[in-house]
Amino acid sequence: MLPIYKNKILLTDYISSVRQAEKTVGFVPTMGALHDGHISLIEKSSEESDITVCSIFVNPTQFNETSDFEKYPRMIEKDIQILGNTNCSVIFAPDSKEIYTDESIDLIDIKLGYLEHELEGKFRPGHFKGVVSVVKRLFDIVQPDKAFFGQKDYQQFMIIKKMVEHFNLKTELICCPVIREKDGLAMSSRNLRLTPKERDFAPTIYQSLIGAKELLGKSTIKEIKSWAESLLSKNDLVELEYFEIRNAEDLKPVKDVNEVNELAILAALKVGKVRLIDNILVKPH
Ligand code: AMP
Repeated sequence: MLPIYKNKILLTDYISSVRQAEKTVGFVPTMGALHDGHISLIEKSSEESDITVCSIFVNPTQFNETSDFEKYPRMIEKDIQILGNTNCSVIFAPDSKEIYTDESIDLIDIKLGYLEHELEGKFRPGHFKGVVSVVKRLFDIVQPDKAFFGQKDYQQFMIIKKMVEHFNLKTELICCPVIREKDGLAMSSRNLRLTPKERDFAPTIYQSLIGAKELLGKSTIKEIKSWAESLLSKNDLVELEYFEIRNAEDLKPVKDVNEVNELAILAALKVGKVRLIDNILVKPH
């Protein structure tokens, strides 16, 4: 059976033995309620590493709304079963006290620059401090050679890149493609909380991203944004937070799409009570 560590010291001992055997460590941090998006990261890690550690930890410090934290799906037994059918080598499922002695004072406060208060940072104050705080601690425990993240949380990936640069960590970061349902909806643990009506609407998010991509070069960014905003806001269930077309390199606004190598088209909205995000990357030339 797949080994499950709850204790960080025991996991560290295990990792040391792996290192002594000169094996490489791949790491996939998750908050559980696993789906094929998570599994794609595990499989990528196992292709590129000798052993793969998957962590399952619903990190309290990255939730800016208590109700979102409380309602976040937790299904550890099912997750363990799912991971047993993958190439995952070991699960790390710590309690909060393994990670934080005190969640309010244990936050890692590094300068994240422009990215911290934009897009996700603007709508989820404090979110990225929580993300950095947990990922740095997990990296300290797992000491991965490579860590695998999803493009689904593109801004989060860029923030973690900043953190790795800030602390001069040796871990290589790998960004993996968004895995989608057949109708285009990006897989997310939060999708489980959608009502049937909300689930029917949810693929419109991906349609708005693809529609915007098709309009590039034919309409201005302003026109494309307002087309997408009206498509997404048409439904009473929806509270749109942002629809943006940005430079994929730094997520700064773009005046002329021809001036950048790659664009990120990003959306965040509440569908009912469930907050969903998605993005696509597009080469404009
Ligand atoms: P989470 O459990 O939501 O914190 O996600 C854990 C990791 O899985 C993060 O790196 C996410 O970006 C990634 N992830 C979540 N959903 C998807 C998806 N649909 N496709 C690919 N990666 C994903």
